[in-house]
Amino acid sequence: MTPLLLTPGPLTTAAAVREAMTVDLGSRDPAFLAVTARILTRLAALAPEPGAFEAVPVQGSGTFAVEAMLGTFVPRDGAAAVLVNGVYGARAVELLRRAGRRVVPLVADEEAAPDLDALDRALAADPGITHVVAVHVETTTGQLEPIAEIAAITARHGRRLLVDAMAAFGAIGLEGVVADAVAASSNKCLEGVPGLGFVLARSTALAETAGNAHSVSLDLHAQAARLTKDGQFRFTPPTHVMLALDAALTLHLAEGGVAGRGARYAANLRVLVDGLTALGFVPLLPAERQAPIIVTFRAPADPAWSFPAFYEALRARGFAIYPGSLTRVPSFRVGCIGQVFPDDLARFVDAAAEAVALLGLTRLAPEPS
Ligand SMILES: *Cc1c(COP(=O)(O)O)cnc(C)c1O
Repeated sequence: MTPLLLTPGPLTTAAAVREAMTVDLGSRDPAFLAVTARILTRLAALAPEPGAFEAVPVQGSGTFAVEAMLGTFVPRDGAAAVLVNGVYGARAVELLRRAGRRVVPLVADEEAAPDLDALDRALAADPGITHVVAVHVETTTGQLEPIAEIAAITARHGRRLLVDAMAAFGAIGLEGVVADAVAASSNKCLEGVPGLGFVLARSTALAETAGNAHSVSLDLHAQAARLTKDGQFRFTPPTHVMLALDAALTLHLAEGGVAGRGARYAANLRVLVDGLTALGFVPLLPAERQAPIIVTFRAPADPAWSFPAFYEALRARGFAIYPGSLTRVPSFRVGCIGQVFPDDLARFVDAAAEAVALLGLTRLAPEPS
């Protein structure tokens, strides 16, 4: 039995999305070029300021798109302040360092909100910082970051914002967020399959990035120029992944776009958090910082607790969950995105209750911290 994927992606997809991949199209075939154009138009419509942005696709997983965004937008003599309170903020620091860019990491605890005063002070103190890099939803914890405030501080200092919006793109809107670029991918809230990243780029900012990129394949300026010229990628596009994404974007529209998808995920979140909390599990984050994407639960203090055993018991009941990745606090994560619905999450809560009984767990609260 294939389990439902309650993870941050790849996710459970709709049958129509998987079926769209059963066609072999040539990368220069007019039918494929039409699919490419339609995908880019639909993605650009999801940008923070739709008329001002264009979508630039990048083959690969989401990290390829983030690496392309950072390397293309931060000039070689620029510098980036990066808000870090989890794995993906830390990854942005690593990507920039590897590209040879100066980086100012602003590190907060994983359980904490980012330190906006530290950002304000860093921008005031260091005029060499050209860009601010922030994550919209930090998948390490599931935290919804205050992206509008981050954007406002960045704009107040006259700097440019680059957003890793991967985890929530398509389910949480970016209205009012002033940014130069936003990176996301095919296989998270858009519910396509893995293999295509993309960056929504402010056209006026993208036009200034010629020659910035440290990498040929991750040069968004060159990729956009080629797509403008003849509608083609520079290098082999993931044709089947794009056919799937095209079908997934049709379903996204039919569900009511960002608002409709976000509402379903919010309903999923409520069933998940209410259900596991009623069993005695304790979520890491307070409700107001919890995004409807993935939830971190603290590991029970019960000595019989074993993540692998819990995972196996749930897997046998048709659900795949995700390990925790906090550095200090033992935890596990459960996603509420993909083609899963409140009834599925209700069945998951029942399966979790059975797994608790099977493992003989009696203390689901965590060790006091
Ligand atoms: C999934 C994700 C990425 C990209 O991860 P890949 O494994 O490269 O697809 C980047 N940032 C965030 C916040 C994510 O959730």
